[in-house]
Amino acid sequence: MTFEGKVALVTGGGSGIGEAIAKELAAVGAKVVVADIALDAAERVADEITQAGGVAAAFRADTAVPEDSEKSVAFAVETYGKLNYAVNNAGIGGRQAPTGDVDIDDWNRVIDINLNGVLYGMRYQIPAMLQAGAAESAIVNMASIHGMVAALGNSAYTAAKHGVVGVTKNAAAEYGPEGLRINAVGPGYIETPLLANLPTQAYEALRGKHPLGRLGQPEEVAHLVRFLLSDDASFITGGYYLVDGGYTTV
Ligand code: NAD
Repeated sequence: MTFEGKVALVTGGGSGIGEAIAKELAAVGAKVVVADIALDAAERVADEITQAGGVAAAFRADTAVPEDSEKSVAFAVETYGKLNYAVNNAGIGGRQAPTGDVDIDDWNRVIDINLNGVLYGMRYQIPAMLQAGAAESAIVNMASIHGMVAALGNSAYTAAKHGVVGVTKNAAAEYGPEGLRINAVGPGYIETPLLANLPTQAYEALRGKHPLGRLGQPEEVAHLVRFLLSDDASFITGGYYLVDGGYTTV
């Protein structure tokens, strides 16, 4: 139980990858705040963690709203006394359109949630972690393979995820001297509700882009996130780690 006595906050924790991360952190002993724009989803995950013998509380927060990020951190500190770990995971896919045909409102929404939300999160998480003890704390930000390669027909998603990798490097360099570690992860395509409405042909095309011949499972991302947060990753900061079934090798 390596995370015993630690407090974690997972945004977008009500579904998919965030749900798997929240459950894995709770299973190794962390007290987890499951934050999500959908409170019922966050409550379901927190209930399932509690039923499995873990400790978790749900909180409604929209990552695109800075005040919500501030309130999420305050909730963690009020509920469990401090904040050690944050996983800035909430994100949306956005609409498909080539760059010359992008819907500007959709662009702004994707950037607000997928990029600005990560900055808003760290803006309030970092001071709380410095208070809790920087060396006892860590952050993982959810990028994507599209923090490295294009998502055709989705410039906003590509731009946001590249931005997540960039802001992660900045924050890691700035807070490294205090001992706070901050990393990003880049999943390939993972079987979550985000991909639920894909037509079969599109699903098969995506599957074929992964040399391992399949999409990933949320738990396979959660294992990497848990490692990066843990003391086993004590010399790892500012990095961007792929968990992509080989997608970016070809
Ligand atoms: P998902 O749709 O299953 O879960 C996302 C969760 O985030 C949902 O519970 C949703 O309610 C919540 N959410 C959405 N907007 C929010 C907001 N503004 N504030 C707070 N919560 C919000 O998606 P997922 O596949 O688990 O994706 C999680 C993260 O992983 C995203 O950042 C996504 O870009 C990234 N990612 C996903 C894949 C994939 O193939 N599924 C691949 C690489 C990266």
